[in-house]
Amino acid sequence: MKIFCGRANPTTGAMEWLEEDENYDYHQEIARSRYADMLHDKDRNTKYYQGIRAAVSRVKERGEKAIVLDIGTGTGLLSMMAASAGADFCYAIEVFRPMANAAVKIVEKNGFSDKIKVINKHSTEVTVGPDGDMQCRANILVTELFDTELIGEGALPTYEHAHKYLVQEGCEAVPHRATVYVQLVESKRMWSWNKLFPVHVEAEDGEKIIVSPLEMDNCPGVPSVCDIQLNQMPLSDFTILTDVVTMFSVDFSKPVRSASTYYRVELEPVKSGKAQIVLSWWDIDMDPSGMINCTMAPYWVKSTSAFQWRDHWMQCVYFLPNEEPVLQGEKVYLTACRDEYSLWYKLQKDRGDEENKVDVRVESPVCRCQAHLLWNRPRFGELNDQNRTCQYIKSLMKVLKTDSVCLCISDGSLLPVLAHYLGAKQFFKANNLQDKIKIIEARPELLTSSHLEDRKISVLVGEPFFTTSLLPWHNLYFWYARTAVVGHLTSNVTVLPQSASLHMMVVEFQDLWRIRSLCGTCEGFDVQTMDDMIKNSLNFRESKEAEPHHLWEYPCKSLSDPQEVLTFDFRKTVPQHCLSTEGSVNLLRKGNSHGAVLWMEYHLVADISVSTGLMQISNEKGNCEWNPHCKQAVYFFSSVIESETLLDLPSAVTYAINFDTKTGEIAMDFKL
Ligand code: SAH
Repeated sequence: MKIFCGRANPTTGAMEWLEEDENYDYHQEIARSRYADMLHDKDRNTKYYQGIRAAVSRVKERGEKAIVLDIGTGTGLLSMMAASAGADFCYAIEVFRPMANAAVKIVEKNGFSDKIKVINKHSTEVTVGPDGDMQCRANILVTELFDTELIGEGALPTYEHAHKYLVQEGCEAVPHRATVYVQLVESKRMWSWNKLFPVHVEAEDGEKIIVSPLEMDNCPGVPSVCDIQLNQMPLSDFTILTDVVTMFSVDFSKPVRSASTYYRVELEPVKSGKAQIVLSWWDIDMDPSGMINCTMAPYWVKSTSAFQWRDHWMQCVYFLPNEEPVLQGEKVYLTACRDEYSLWYKLQKDRGDEENKVDVRVESPVCRCQAHLLWNRPRFGELNDQNRTCQYIKSLMKVLKTDSVCLCISDGSLLPVLAHYLGAKQFFKANNLQDKIKIIEARPELLTSSHLEDRKISVLVGEPFFTTSLLPWHNLYFWYARTAVVGHLTSNVTVLPQSASLHMMVVEFQDLWRIRSLCGTCEGFDVQTMDDMIKNSLNFRESKEAEPHHLWEYPCKSLSDPQEVLTFDFRKTVPQHCLSTEGSVNLLRKGNSHGAVLWMEYHLVADISVSTGLMQISNEKGNCEWNPHCKQAVYFFSSVIESETLLDLPSAVTYAINFDTKTGEIAMDFKL
């Protein structure tokens, strides 16, 4: 069987349907999955184990047989914990076929085949009875169906169904309970991910300020949660306005209702400020007493020193529909609304009577201004980066003349507005303002002279930024578009940026390496089958590919100097031949070479550049500061070079990097 997968072509910027092997989806899913990350989550695993042991003991003490239902068994881990804790029988349910197959193998390898039955079904399809999947209802319900938002993976409807049909009344549940916490903060940094701030333009005739339309200011934005590694957000980037409060809890041992509802709490601000953001996280109590607690609380809340890094569960940032001034000591009311799968928040100054209660059952926020559909959160942040904007303004001032005819090729860019304010006469913008700016709804290769009113372009600009780009070099689509419109350019056209360069650096990750490291055994269970499966899926397609990550969330230190490896001259058209380079970088610091980070730098004009990657190496130790708005490419080395001293390090890492101008993709290989 063949399947078709949609993917953006970096040379055309267009979505294309590619025929793929039927296993493609599987492999993508496995290779990018968080199974390994979960298996590395020692804190989670030990607490589940403790909770499961305690639940099995409680059931046994009552003189009952311990019958376990493990919904979403994955590798079978929690069922194996239950079986070794003395459970009489486990029903391990897994909907994702490759994982169910893996669970069968892992269970067998660990010698639990007689105690654990793996059922490859969605839990709502499972039948109970003499001829059913399960002989009888279970009296212990074990699950790990949570995402960063707790309920986003469908935990509530799954529990609701399980209590109705699959478990006994009064069953034990591990986890026993989940609690969602909130804290109200003011944060210019995070708010900049949701609203467009005024843009300051220093033009020759004085400062001008571009403000966003009212419609955008009042727009509640998009409902999806913003999940981030909040532990990487320094305290200087936000102001705490309230203490941490419990928003709501769910008792998993009792029938659960998934229907839409809301919760409301009273908050007394500890500081006056602008309420903009609700920070939220949850914890789970593995037992009824609450003695075995696994928490996602961020560093400023958590008292324990033992810190567990994890990427499968992070923290949530919710944007209030509008910022609200709050006063220290003056109560406000925060409402969390939820449907089956998601949460959203609103803040009110008064308690709200019955009538107001109806009001809080409002639908989740929908973007009315379109901007939240065009720009994702990092992109909002990027457009609000006044430093970056200044670089573009300075560059535009250098290239724009009063009679310039400009074409801008970039998605959702403010460059045309900037240029207009700086006095460009005519501005055309492909894809996407005002009588001086004409928006051309045509793909670059379909641009005609009539679109341009028979004029030739004298200044071609781009950030460049395209929403379809996954990896940093996919924005080289600008180069392809520049090549496609060559017939419409004047012979002495100015292209901004004039060129781009690809940079590379060898790094040691503080934690991110875990997502790619082997598990071997987990809590004493052999899960090598899972390792093999991930390796196999990585080799299927991904092994020689880099993956995009927002590295501000994933600290690393540089082990080599940053090195420019390829350059792309936008003043010329895309060449027919590939661009290749080979070379080596010296390792300067001791550490584990986990991989290479790659990013693009854009040379706007001769002496002004912007980096989408490394901003600076902040200290002797090599700690890196990354552009917070962009994803960098991470290429994990297949084997990690570990070294305690510089002496036993290979002195250099050699690389071969090839940019295929036909496909717009970059292939690379590293040797130690
Ligand atoms: N229990 C494992 C894996 C947890 S990941 C562990 O703790 O390590 C969650 C798994 O649940 C995924 O494999 C997903 O495919 C599966 N899943 C989610 N909802 C399910 C449902 N309602 N029925 C069956 N499987 C489900």
